[in-house]
Amino acid sequence: MIPVLFAAHPKAWPDYEDALARAFREAGLDAACSPDIPANEARYIIYAPDSPHRDFGAFPRAKAVLNLWAGVEGVVGNDTLTIPLCRMIEPGLTEGMVEWVTGMVLRHHLGLDRYVQGRAGWDPVFPPLARDRTVGVLGLGELGAASATAFASLNFRVLGWSRSAKRLDNIETFAGEAGLTDVLSRAEILVLLLPLTGATEGLIGADALARLPEGAVLINPGRGPLVDDDALLAALDAGRLAHATLDVFRTEPLPEDHPFWTHPAVTVTPHVASATRPVTAARAVAENVRRGEAGEPFLGLVDRARAY
Ligand code: NAP
Repeated sequence: MIPVLFAAHPKAWPDYEDALARAFREAGLDAACSPDIPANEARYIIYAPDSPHRDFGAFPRAKAVLNLWAGVEGVVGNDTLTIPLCRMIEPGLTEGMVEWVTGMVLRHHLGLDRYVQGRAGWDPVFPPLARDRTVGVLGLGELGAASATAFASLNFRVLGWSRSAKRLDNIETFAGEAGLTDVLSRAEILVLLLPLTGATEGLIGADALARLPEGAVLINPGRGPLVDDDALLAALDAGRLAHATLDVFRTEPLPEDHPFWTHPAVTVTPHVASATRPVTAARAVAENVRRGEAGEPFLGLVDRARAY
């Protein structure tokens, strides 16, 4: 019997209980998984950064921490964590993100806001075709690459940026500081799908915003601190940027008095761009437990030095 402790927030357990039992069964694993597994017996820790557990020293027999979220900034710096940490990669999370960013890109590309509740009256404005619109995607990981590929399939001109050089069909890819400048200077719609690390925090500040084409749109489903809020508000107020659609914030929930709520050129969505889906996520967890037991490399293994 493989003891697996469900150490994510207790409120998540009802969503995962049946899905995990089924996924372990389907993977042919004899696992006992629950929030009641004694800490000193647990071999795998299913985790999420909103968990009440903070001291990984309490799990002396654990082989790995399996995070239910893609973002690991809330756990990767925990000094008590010395065993492998895996971030969540699962098809439901990826599909959800692709759908959300595609919806937001098309909304801005087509200028749909202009017609909401008859705001513009009978004043037709024809958008360019997607083939004449450039979308930049910062971060070409699991979610960024899938999103960039979806934009390319709609014929957008897609520029993608990552830390290491990448090749992706129908996407012009860039890496490093010079690559970022190239992407920013051409991206009419800029989508942020970077993780939050020491290297990405505040990346989209006054300098980066000033490089975007006049009237560009920013879409941020990555993490709030990627963006300098004050610099963004200044760029919107100056009319340099046409709109910012933001799903993630430095403080969540976004404080009631934050100017983003009332700014006419900002759309706030409450961290709904995507979510881990229990059925598919449970399969991803079971697969990593199977790998751990078989001595195979884990999927989504976080590199501590890079912090993602
Ligand atoms: P991922 O697979 O780890 O990909 C991260 C990408 O960012 C990689 O392409 C990586 O480059 C690039 N990157 C990292 N640091 C960089 C740097 N300093 N300079 C340039 N590129 C850099 O992550 P993911 O699964 O796609 O998820 C991305 C983020 O989305 C998560 O970290 C989380 O913050 C956010 N998220 C948000 C929601 C939501 O609902 N809003 C839901 C899920 C996830 P390399 O390819 O070279 O490593």
